[in-house]
Amino acid sequence: MNELMNNGSLFQLNCPHCGEFIFFNPPETVSEATMVDSNIGRVKIHNLYSNRGTNRCYEAIDAEMICNSCHYTFKTTARRNFDI
Ligand SMILES: [Zn+2]
Repeated sequence: MNELMNNGSLFQLNCPHCGEFIFFNPPETVSEATMVDSNIGRVKIHNLYSNRGTNRCYEAIDAEMICNSCHYTFKTTARRNFDI
């Protein structure tokens, strides 16, 4: 149950505890930081990985956050795909 919707350039993930669908828009060109998102609160992000195909780009980033829905603290990898 980890199907990713193709939703523009937002990073997407699911809470591993309650399954809440979470998305966020990270600051540009940040590879390691703590950011505060108005919807989901504080997120620690590390290790941006990217992979470029012929007309698609794939990125993944490690994120540590507290789920808004169940308040579980977790680390996970968020992903996004977009056209280039
Ligand atoms: Zn949750």
